[in-house]
Amino acid sequence: MLKGKTALVTGSTSGIGLGIAEKLAAQGANIILNGFGDIEVPKAAVLAAGHAFACKVGYHGADMSKPDEIVAMFAYAQAEFGGVDILVNNAGIQHVSPIESFPPEKWDAVIAINLSSAFHTIRLAVPGMRSKNWGRIINLASAHGLVASANKSAYVAAKHGLIGLTKAVALETATTGITSNAICPGWVLTPLVQKQIDDRAAKGGITAEQAQRDLLGEKQPSLQFVTPGQLGDLAVFMCSSAGDNVRGVAWNMDGGWVAQ
Ligand code: NAD
Repeated sequence: MLKGKTALVTGSTSGIGLGIAEKLAAQGANIILNGFGDIEVPKAAVLAAGHAFACKVGYHGADMSKPDEIVAMFAYAQAEFGGVDILVNNAGIQHVSPIESFPPEKWDAVIAINLSSAFHTIRLAVPGMRSKNWGRIINLASAHGLVASANKSAYVAAKHGLIGLTKAVALETATTGITSNAICPGWVLTPLVQKQIDDRAAKGGITAEQAQRDLLGEKQPSLQFVTPGQLGDLAVFMCSSAGDNVRGVAWNMDGGWVAQ
């Protein structure tokens, strides 16, 4: 379905981004990976997923908090892949703290990586998408883009902002073949969430298993984690022709979190 298209997935060396990259590759898309840490294992996983289509897999290590590096990543995408057809803004970080002790530098980092980076990637991707009259912009927001939790002020603000950005871009591209949508996951068991489980276990003097049960029980009625593969399948749907007129939505996949 996506043979000949190129997808740039930010923050795709682990977790949800990697799961989405694998699902897009399995539909034939070439993939540009981005993110920190080991590159070889994720690259091999995406190559294996796209094996049947001989997908090309590249990597650029832009730090998504640095606009100049994002510009360099798009120059790389143009030179090596002929541009970006599918943009998945997924890179994200979390910091948990009450507002009065929230470190200002953590606020700046969360806003830069979870929100401003998407402004930069979208502004750089849209001209090429317009010239082809086809494009998909998929922003990984969160249930926290729709409702808040205490002690996550920067993350909640960034994710609400990302949904606003998604809608504005959807309107600006509404008469074109470009769509802009957000995906709002509930809890997904990735390194980002494992850290919160470990912190909770340490603070409460409980086991990691108990902390995991408590975490799910507080917010996610299904009591099950959403998986990166399920989110990848939703991204694939948004890239399909059935998604041509899905525009400006904030689609929750959250085990019932925001239904409460
Ligand atoms: P993760 O920590 O497993 O992965 C984050 C990815 O972003 C990694 O590849 C990391 O290297 C990369 N990254 C971090 N800072 C970066 C930077 N400055 N520049 C470039 N890359 C950077 O996290 P995850 O849980 O897979 O989260 C992915 C996205 O999904 C995030 O936007 C997160 O807010 C969102 N999300 C996650 C959950 C969840 O429960 N895990 C729920 C809702 C939304």
